Amino acid sequence: MNEYVYGIDIGGTNIKLGLFTLPGMKMIDVKEVETPRQNQETSIFEKIGSIILEMNQVNGIEFKQVKGVGAAVPCPVKNGHVDKCPNLKWNKLDIIFAFNKVLPDHVRVAVSNDATLAAYGENQILEKPYKNAVFYTLGTGVGGGIIINGEILEGATGLGGEIGHMRVFDGATETCGCGSQGCLEQICGTSGILNYTKELSLSSTSSIDFKNLSVKSVFDAAKAGDKVGLQVINRVAEYIAISASIIAVILDPDVFIIGGGISKAGSFLVDLISQHYQKHARFSSYKVPFLLASTGNDAGIIGAAYLIRKQI
Ligand SMILES: [Zn+2]
Repeated sequence: MNEYVYGIDIGGTNIKLGLFTLPGMKMIDVKEVETPRQNQETSIFEKIGSIILEMNQVNGIEFKQVKGVGAAVPCPVKNGHVDKCPNLKWNKLDIIFAFNKVLPDHVRVAVSNDATLAAYGENQILEKPYKNAVFYTLGTGVGGGIIINGEILEGATGLGGEIGHMRVFDGATETCGCGSQGCLEQICGTSGILNYTKELSLSSTSSIDFKNLSVKSVFDAAKAGDKVGLQVINRVAEYIAISASIIAVILDPDVFIIGGGISKAGSFLVDLISQHYQKHARFSSYKVPFLLASTGNDAGIIGAAYLIRKQI
């Protein structure tokens, strides 16, 4: 009898479910649905329960063949408990208990933070996973995940890996969503990139199309040699490199993996980060390689599926 696990990524807008074979972890089906807006402490889990039932039927699977469910959530989580979730109306919620109410008793459940699980997934799909890996997710916000000795790091309260809120520069005039100023996210997140592009364009000519300004248009301009685009991307790469050099002297990782929407800029960005990193790294940490993430939008479901596979 074939056995399976589900990897689920719960986001503020969408919920994505992947069905994976055991032990090979081949993803045989995937489905994305809108996140329910009302009564999110119960409705999200009821919806997931019904979609799992539907996916089981479509794939000719009985529930007894489903051994576990792994879930990625968009907030700090510790041992399955969420204190507060800014993206969802969850307050002091036991996620594992909430899942147990909608799933048969034999189905095991594991939960962790989405960026932490993206880190885990990206590392696990490598031919030879690293023991110690640090993952950056670059998008609207800047997040991260940390793997130490092959295990995910949640930390004492679930905040482990929130690298976007590392204070890396002085002179910030705006306050970050976290309440601090000068966070990595303020420079390397989407609005930091776009604001800096607009600021530079006041004093320099640029080929960037400001009517349709996006991170992609800034990167495309930089790749084509535009001066403003290059200056913006260089600053992003430099601050990621500075933050990585700080992490390197604390954790001494084997690898840095760069993922998230902005990482679609590809090796162009990763090579720039590597170059800047060489200036800032100390001791033997200059050897730590930077890899480009490869799972794209599936990072959360893949990491969640690998987490539950490890626990069953
Ligand atoms: Zn912050």
